[in-house]
Amino acid sequence: MATPVRPAGQGVRRRNRQQAVHGNRQTLGRRRLGPICPSWKTLLGVVLAVAPLAACGQTPSRDDTRKAPAVTLVYSKKYEINFGGLERAHPFDIHKYTKIAKQLIADEVVAVRDFHVPDELSREQILLVHTPAFLTSLKSSTTVAEYLEAPMVAVLPAGMIDRGMLRAFRHASGGTILAARLALKHGIAVNIGGGYHHAKPDRGEGFCVYADMPIAIRVLRKEKLVRRVLVVDLDVHQGNGTIGCCQGDPDVFTFSMHQRDIYPIPKEKGDLDIELRAGTDDETYLRLLREALPDVIKRSRPELVILQAGCDTLKGDPLAGLAMTQDGIVRRDAYVIDTCVARGIPVVMTLGGGYSRQAWKVQHASVRNIIETYDTARRQSADAAQPQAKPKKLEVDPKKSKAGKR
Ligand SMILES: [Zn+2]
Repeated sequence: MATPVRPAGQGVRRRNRQQAVHGNRQTLGRRRLGPICPSWKTLLGVVLAVAPLAACGQTPSRDDTRKAPAVTLVYSKKYEINFGGLERAHPFDIHKYTKIAKQLIADEVVAVRDFHVPDELSREQILLVHTPAFLTSLKSSTTVAEYLEAPMVAVLPAGMIDRGMLRAFRHASGGTILAARLALKHGIAVNIGGGYHHAKPDRGEGFCVYADMPIAIRVLRKEKLVRRVLVVDLDVHQGNGTIGCCQGDPDVFTFSMHQRDIYPIPKEKGDLDIELRAGTDDETYLRLLREALPDVIKRSRPELVILQAGCDTLKGDPLAGLAMTQDGIVRRDAYVIDTCVARGIPVVMTLGGGYSRQAWKVQHASVRNIIETYDTARRQSADAAQPQAKPKKLEVDPKKSKAGKR
């Protein structure tokens, strides 16, 4: 069932769509933050991480054998970056993950116990894709500030950056690994985070540090769970980092639809790139996607599909110039999921970019639509156990839920 559609982009002042260029280096964010020197009192007040929202944390038991595709959700409150409000000056709304998770619970389409909490990326996992020099570079505040396009980060001690920011990215990236494992078991998994598709083997870029999707591929392949993987990257920016990480790997197919005239320039050469003009609307976008995806699947014969579902294709996004509506993006994501399900291919969704104020609402609508179409693995197995039972209302308040007391 589709969720109600709201007009997208209304009331949002359109900013200049061209990418920012500082010296010779292109950047994803146009809005520069400028030198910010917070007081140490403020910095000491930083909340680095809070307890996970969900108490459950591991993959489901083997008893959860699915009879039909079901949605599993991955999220941790540790995805959040909280630097006393300073993080709000950045174009990327790092709080969107939590807003989406909380709204899904408030909607009563999921319960707290539906969220699977991932482990933080390990050093060994990071080194499956990144170079040792990259790990060393993360000890430099100035370098991390460049990766995140956040000049204020350069004035912070490296240890604080690691605990307060990089650890959050490691949790959200670990979420993509867990979601991939869950997708193989249940058919569909959504990481309420991830999709850091500009991260390259030797450096971060465009708000991205760790290359979560290539890392997930390497981890699963090391465990001999998959070999052939298709990455469907529908963020408005090309996933140059993902392509760079997977180049030369004959078993990873990278398919991207992105705006032609924005960051990154020049583009990398993926296996199939569809370049879009500024102003591309729902009708054109969805037609191109429908024309391409079935053939891409036929060519790549994937055992797993990873969808980067960035919603910066939305009309009014400050860092891009397409003209999609919320309804178009919901239908776009649903089309990819449905196409995979129809062919029996496990699919993982990551959130990627989206920089307008409505971005979290658009992605919430998309995730909700997928849940309402396929239901969660927990509810599906409960229904199978008690087919005649009257559906119970899901617990909204984490403090009152059984999962919350565990
Ligand atoms: Zn993007």
